[in-house]
Amino acid sequence: MYTQIRDLNIDTVLAKKQFQSIIQNLKSESSHIQVQKAKEWIFPIQGYTPKYIGGKNGEGYIPQGYDFFTGNNHKAHPAHDIFIYDFNQDCIDDKTKKYVNVLSVTEGIVVACTKTWDTTSTLRGGIYVWVYCPSEEALFYYAHLNSVFVDIGGIVQAGESLGTVGRTGLNAYKKRSPTHLHFSMFSVKNNLPVPQNPYQKLCSAKCIP
Ligand SMILES: [Zn+2]
Repeated sequence: MYTQIRDLNIDTVLAKKQFQSIIQNLKSESSHIQVQKAKEWIFPIQGYTPKYIGGKNGEGYIPQGYDFFTGNNHKAHPAHDIFIYDFNQDCIDDKTKKYVNVLSVTEGIVVACTKTWDTTSTLRGGIYVWVYCPSEEALFYYAHLNSVFVDIGGIVQAGESLGTVGRTGLNAYKKRSPTHLHFSMFSVKNNLPVPQNPYQKLCSAKCIP
């Protein structure tokens, strides 16, 4: 369904109804699954800290004009971009000489992900992972990844590696874009996604070296 929304191949009213029923099912199913509730948030990039969040004091977060159900076609940025040291844009950290892990901020269930992307695609998210966290009743979106280590339906713990930071996606791939993770949070209200600014949560998250 997310692919249909992303590509504008589904009627908005229908998409909302489908989304609500999927979330309803997720809520009832997840009560049977043993997902240990995390004590605290984990910062979503291993080896990095909140000072690498783009924009002064989280100003990169621009929710105005965003609608989850209008897919790829919007100008808002209900997200934070978190930048890594990658001067030559090969997705390998200039300091550690390794790929950089994207960590799940909370525990949850992988509800959507892609594993491939080609450079001619006009999709903006590139390679991405969506995680639903039952205890927060929220969805988390990690985009522009280089690789993905999880599968749809998989259970992840807070701090588990979802993949690595990359440059996939229409704009993220361009030379002018420094390598970063695009990270969003959506609270689920009336079983529909509502953008939330996770800046304070990110600032107080536990950083994994
Ligand atoms: Zn972004």
